[in-house]
Amino acid sequence: MTLNLKEFIHDVPDFPKPGIVFRDITPMLADARAFAEAIERLDEATRDLKYTRIIGIESRGFIFGAALAQRRKCGFVPIRKPKKLPRATVRETYALEYGEDALEMHEDAFIKGESALIVDDVLATGGTAEAAARLVGRSAGDVAGFAFLIELDFLGGRARLAPHRTSSVVHY
Ligand code: AMP
Repeated sequence: MTLNLKEFIHDVPDFPKPGIVFRDITPMLADARAFAEAIERLDEATRDLKYTRIIGIESRGFIFGAALAQRRKCGFVPIRKPKKLPRATVRETYALEYGEDALEMHEDAFIKGESALIVDDVLATGGTAEAAARLVGRSAGDVAGFAFLIELDFLGGRARLAPHRTSSVVHY
């Protein structure tokens, strides 16, 4: 039976700051059937894409990306916040509402011509995923597409990630 996954995503108003509705996926992770269905639906939404690695964006992208990589029997590459990875990295900065942030990936994470599916829990403005795509390009990899559990349609992140394909399971 198909579950309504939104029942397992809790809305937390004004977190982490006033005016933001935080989409909390921890109830979904805690329910075995809902977590399994979320991974199954991410898999279905991206099954026709060709890629050799899944990239997960720290930190909730690790949960969905690693589970999907196991299901698809492909490798997993973490993209992390600065200064967490131990070897030589490439780094991309991106704009936040106030100031900027950065993401890093091991510079040898890709062999030229390999392609990646980039996975995160939520697509909001798309700035984080766009920076992840630039990191793949910097290490000579190709982006096969993006997959998110949740897409906040009203923020228009999908347009920012075009022409790459974006697949999302649940929309708000
Ligand atoms: P953005 O770069 O604007 O697309 O923001 C995406 C990143 O911020 C993802 O890693 C999400 O985990 C997180 N994020 C943004 N908005 C929300 C939200 N309303 N609820 C939960 N996480 C969010």
